[in-house]
Amino acid sequence: GDFAEEVDTLIIGSGPGGYVAAIRAAQLGQKVTIVEKGDIGGVCLNVGCIPSKALIQAGHKFHEAKSGGDDMGITAEKVNVDFSKVQEWKAGIVNKLTGGVQGLLKANNVNIVQGEAYFSDENSVKVSTDEYNSQTYKFKNCIVATGSRPVELPNFKYSSRVINSTGALQLDDIPEKLVVIGGGYIGVELAGAYANLGAEVTVLEGEKRILGGFEKQMAQLVQRRLKKKGVKFETQAFAQSVEESDNGVNIKAEVKGKEKSFDADYVLVSVGRKPNTDELGLEQIGVEIGDNGLIKTDKQCRTGNKSIYAIGDIIEGPQLAHKASYEGKIAAEAISGESSEIDYLGIPMVVFAEPELASVGYTESEAKEAGYDVVGAKFPFQANGRALSLNDSEGFMKLVTRKEDGLVIGAQIAGPNASDMIAEAGLAIEAGMTAEDLAMTIHAHPTLGEITMETAEVALGTPVHIA
Ligand code: FAD
Repeated sequence: GDFAEEVDTLIIGSGPGGYVAAIRAAQLGQKVTIVEKGDIGGVCLNVGCIPSKALIQAGHKFHEAKSGGDDMGITAEKVNVDFSKVQEWKAGIVNKLTGGVQGLLKANNVNIVQGEAYFSDENSVKVSTDEYNSQTYKFKNCIVATGSRPVELPNFKYSSRVINSTGALQLDDIPEKLVVIGGGYIGVELAGAYANLGAEVTVLEGEKRILGGFEKQMAQLVQRRLKKKGVKFETQAFAQSVEESDNGVNIKAEVKGKEKSFDADYVLVSVGRKPNTDELGLEQIGVEIGDNGLIKTDKQCRTGNKSIYAIGDIIEGPQLAHKASYEGKIAAEAISGESSEIDYLGIPMVVFAEPELASVGYTESEAKEAGYDVVGAKFPFQANGRALSLNDSEGFMKLVTRKEDGLVIGAQIAGPNASDMIAEAGLAIEAGMTAEDLAMTIHAHPTLGEITMETAEVALGTPVHIA
């Protein structure tokens, strides 16, 4: 065996959970080692949030350039997309960010170890650096942040034509035809991006509607807009099998009880993500894992083993980068003896579709279910001058406030820039603000931000710009 190296805090995984935890732990004076078997930055920076938003933006640019100005009398001819340039540009962004994270880790004196970690006992982790070599690290505390991977459907083995989100982000050409299995946010975002880039897209969704995590009315806006772009939707559709040929795939699916067949260049399977908790040796050291593969943790992200913490996609809650980072800070602070605890209410959820969808805190029906007596106030983007001048005025904001005192406990936004606008509602929740606080905050005119102010005024019963 090798000689164990002693470290204070060992972190496994360098995604938005792990790298943020590493930096915060170092800031608090811990000696930190981070182990990564793949690329620094994890799924989010390399094959998730960042490259997907870059691809979506490329789609927008292309679509806007071609026909975005039609209503205003602006037309363009010969608009082209050089997809290899798009991919190069996207890779440049990823490289800049992952390089930045490496720099930050080094600046904080975090020791970076490249290799795959496995728990050899309660206080040590063995890291295989290559086929023949390994190094053991003995830790005082460990934060597990190993993230998740795409689920594979039994009859859809991944190949060059049966792809997951990673493959979909790395295509060499824009497909002529793309079938997407799964209408969750990842499937919907990528469907939108490729539809904008000119692909003929079909989405197969098992449920009665897409985007199950969002209110029906919000999901409908997205579905309607995608349909206008030519995206086809098959709901209550269950993909059964796929046949590959040299230049494409044929998918058989049961749609509302009837067999249907779909031809495409690629089939993107996006039916959920599975936590990477099965190959770490966790069970033998007192870390409890549920049937869903998720690690059980307390409010400080501590597992059943008191010196081991778990954060991000491998624990309960939405699989989102900012949730992983938030938990990373809490775990690092807990190790330093601070009393920080998780409070999930303020974690926003965003879908980068058209229109963008965003939600934070309770929806009206969730609040009622939780026993709150609430006011659900709604304001349309149509009544906002900035939205009209952007030529993008489809959507609405909803604010959920407690009836007795006006406390803001939730908000939902569907509309342009919903992803940025939701931050103000999140702040209101975190800071314990009321509808009156939002309504009394002076917002610049003309901005989309005024929508938040006006929705709060609806909640108070005194809206100025709707009757
Ligand atoms: P990960 O980012 O998955 O990182 C885990 C790291 O651990 C990996 O680098 C892995 O190599 C490493 N690792 C695993 N096992 C070991 C081991 N045994 N030893 C060493 N290293 C190991 N979220 C958002 O909030 N907004 C978005 O817009 C968004 N878009 C997305 C788009 C796509 C296409 C996808 C796939 C995901 C998207 N997500 C988005 C989700 C987001 O990427 C994840 O929630 C986030 O990356 C989870 O962070 P994490 O730190 O838990 O794990």
